[in-house]
Amino acid sequence: MTNKIQVTRSSMPQLDEYIDEIRELWNSRWLTNMGVKHKKLESDLINYLDVSNIALFTNGHIALETVIAALDLEGEVITTPFTFVSTTHAIVRNGLEPVFCDINSEDYTIDVEKIESLITERTSAIIPVHVYGNVCNINEIQRIANKYNLKVIYDAAHTFGVKVDDTGIGNFGDASMFSFHATKVFNTIEGGAVTFNDKKLDKKLNELKNFGITGPASIQYIGGNGKMNEFQAAMGICNLRHVSNEIERRRTVVKRYISNLNGIEGIKLIKPQKGVKSNYSYFPVVFDGYKKTRDMIFEELKEHDIIARKYFYPLTNNIKCYKDIFNSNNTPIAKYIAERVLTLPLYADLNLDDVDRICKIIKK
Ligand SMILES: *Cc1c(COP(=O)(O)O)cnc(C)c1O
Repeated sequence: MTNKIQVTRSSMPQLDEYIDEIRELWNSRWLTNMGVKHKKLESDLINYLDVSNIALFTNGHIALETVIAALDLEGEVITTPFTFVSTTHAIVRNGLEPVFCDINSEDYTIDVEKIESLITERTSAIIPVHVYGNVCNINEIQRIANKYNLKVIYDAAHTFGVKVDDTGIGNFGDASMFSFHATKVFNTIEGGAVTFNDKKLDKKLNELKNFGITGPASIQYIGGNGKMNEFQAAMGICNLRHVSNEIERRRTVVKRYISNLNGIEGIKLIKPQKGVKSNYSYFPVVFDGYKKTRDMIFEELKEHDIIARKYFYPLTNNIKCYKDIFNSNNTPIAKYIAERVLTLPLYADLNLDDVDRICKIIKK
């Protein structure tokens, strides 16, 4: 009998390594509010991600909500429905109106040819998603943003450590949000960050994540509580030491999937992007004209105790809380892919034999 294979498995350091990292907290009794671990993780991440500024948060979603608030956006925001619901919620919870742009059928990121037709007088920003670790067409997005004077915030939750022509992915647009959730390539248990180029944003982001407190007796903003605590930061410090090795092992798993599934009629894999150093965060497969449907494959894998994920299904413009407001027929490619895509199990210590077994079930 083989063990159950989940779609992902959280990376963790050796227990001793973590204990060493948190030991001093028993002396300092400084458990949260930007302590030494928080400061160290900030500077470690600035190095690793090769960015100029970073603000840490207790999770990626609050990071995104906060940076949207910090940039004082108004009116409409152009985004895609082919994402985790967090992206759309972060826009709506800021009192803004999401305007859904379709995705392209190559890498499932925002279709840059369709952005301009959605821009109105009320548009203030574009929030594209580097979905599955695929990099959006950043040059074209920036060209459009400059032309119409729009802000750009990337949902970079899937692109930890990704580089484009040797530039860290967190350097593009006005800001990028990363998620360090347990299921992501790099985790701080729960956690997240915003990276940004304009140093002036630093103060406001950090005030907004701490109730809007701007001084001992001064509260300037209606902020929330988004602070990353010391135990989260310590986990991040440990995990970051091993993340390059983890990504390398993910690469081996992905290579094995590709060698098993490449060139099969009706199975569509994503092509590597030119100039992009990938983090191998997800392995999405689109079943289009295959002998079995996505849902059939999902069930068959489940019968074998292998858990794949219909990621992203349903689209965010078709979930219960939004479907009376938006219409997923307006984003036909996103709709088409969401009905056919399955992300297969992928994590650093996934056995290559298990990869072969998963592929055998798919091909049977
Ligand atoms: C994980 C994720 C988020 C939210 O991040 P959390 O750290 O879980 O709050 C947002 N967007 C996308 C695309 C994600 O995958």
